[in-house]
Amino acid sequence: MATLPVNEAVLTYAPGSPERAELRRAINEQSAHPVIVPLRIGGAGVFHDAPQPIRAPHRHELVLGEYSTVREGDVAQAISAARAAQPAWSATPLAERAAIFRRAAELLAGPHRQRLNAATLLGQSKTPHQAEIDAACELIDFWRFNAHFAERLSEERLISSEFEKNAFDWRPLEGFVYAVTPFNFTAIAGNLPSAPALLGNVVVWKPSPYAMLSAHHIYELLREAGLPDGVINLVAGDAAQITTEVLHDPNLAAIHFTGSSSVFEGLYQSVAVNLTRYRNYPRLVAETGGKDFVVAHASADLDALAVAVLRGGYEYQGQKCSAASRVYVPRSLARDFEARLVELMAELKVGDPADFSCFMGAVIARPAYERLTLTIERARADAACRIAFGGQGSDAEGFFIAPTLIEVQTPEHALLRDELFGPIVSFFVYDDDRFEDVLRLCDQASPYALTGSIFARDAAAIALASNALRFSAGNFYINDKPTGAVVGQQPFGGARRSGTNDKAGSPFHLLRWASPRVIKENLRPPRDFRYPFLEPDFP
Ligand code: NAD
Repeated sequence: MATLPVNEAVLTYAPGSPERAELRRAINEQSAHPVIVPLRIGGAGVFHDAPQPIRAPHRHELVLGEYSTVREGDVAQAISAARAAQPAWSATPLAERAAIFRRAAELLAGPHRQRLNAATLLGQSKTPHQAEIDAACELIDFWRFNAHFAERLSEERLISSEFEKNAFDWRPLEGFVYAVTPFNFTAIAGNLPSAPALLGNVVVWKPSPYAMLSAHHIYELLREAGLPDGVINLVAGDAAQITTEVLHDPNLAAIHFTGSSSVFEGLYQSVAVNLTRYRNYPRLVAETGGKDFVVAHASADLDALAVAVLRGGYEYQGQKCSAASRVYVPRSLARDFEARLVELMAELKVGDPADFSCFMGAVIARPAYERLTLTIERARADAACRIAFGGQGSDAEGFFIAPTLIEVQTPEHALLRDELFGPIVSFFVYDDDRFEDVLRLCDQASPYALTGSIFARDAAAIALASNALRFSAGNFYINDKPTGAVVGQQPFGGARRSGTNDKAGSPFHLLRWASPRVIKENLRPPRDFRYPFLEPDFP
């Protein structure tokens, strides 16, 4: 069996490092030269009139390019192109398909690294570190590890004997996969169409309108790596309209979705309504929202706790499905926790991520900015809330929201229940002797169950929390922030309203993209239909 790949090392971008200079060059280049982003149908670029601009969230006037949206007939053509590509692609040996994605990983680890990092920094407002761990490292890991996991699957042997041979035929799904991707992770945008493609599927991919620049570079990279025409087709435009058309097609075999729970629920319902149309029962693989928790026990290491909340809650402006957004702190630690965290928060610089001294950039777009400023205004007017830090916003140059910390006095408050997807962390102070109650509260307070952390030095408290919170998170962390899952190390996903928990970054995820056939060959077929029990008894 081939050896497990090694996770891509995270570059530091420290002053004087070559990667820092290369990233700067790529940022300057992409800022000065806007790109044209066509639809991709059967390998051809399609560009219509009235394209949409791609703007940097942190600098309204910086236009990075423009992308075409679909016209009547484009979605149908994308589906036809995918279906036309399927016979040859599904017949291509796995080794050849895997080689394309391994080549993509090498290109991304080498010549394309700063191109995709810069596109993610500019188009999605990520700092160099956030772009590096996402657009470079995680996507490289997905491509390398998935190729390895798929080959491992193909090595799975069934019991055979001298009389019969049994074997798996790792077929792809029959039909096409619809991949719908979010704005917040370039790696997810790359993985959602490519994991099914690796297993021999063909895909219609609809990226987020807020991540079209990185989507464009992912597509170009995959083509350079040798991905044939029509295997992945890129469409953009009105998401609901495109989806209605796609979900009407009888050949829809699966949806690979990452995004908000409400959008996924709409997709699920549409599939149910259309169910009898389809040739197969479509598979629904989705990672959705989160309201990720940090529970501190009285024995917690305060410095580690404060850093975890700071990084887990505010990195990438809190726009991670796994972002820490509700914290439960014992009364004995509350004052010191707040003081320590506020001291650290005061050091965070928010601004244009092309200025490498910024720890945070802008939130993705106006709707997010307005939703978050409204949330803060409501909290300011709410007697059950106290804004301990932050609370300011400005949309003059870009969509900036200050890192904000809110103490919430009622445990069932919406701030401890609903996903906010922004740099707002709420905390609730509990009496030290109510630790078990607070664990129950944490489990019940929100409909999501994606990630969560326990901070404690007391082993019994850790065991208690791990048990009480068993179904509260699909990725559970002990004395660590709830973000930053690594492919092959912490396969990712949650249940309840957080998704179908298929654990991207593990071999199990790939099973969702295969519909195996089992072939039995009888080497000595019976020539007599009679069984021994039919014989008469001895006289
Ligand atoms: P979103 O739901 O707004 O958009 C996701 C995708 O769905 C986009 O491509 C969008 O264009 C499309 N979409 C929007 N409306 C649609 C409709 N009516 N029909 C069909 N498609 C539609 O999410 P987002 O803002 O891009 O991303 C943030 C959300 O994603 C958060 O809820 C976050 O928790 C979640 N997320 C989850 C994970 C995870 O692994 N659990 C990872 C990343 C993001």
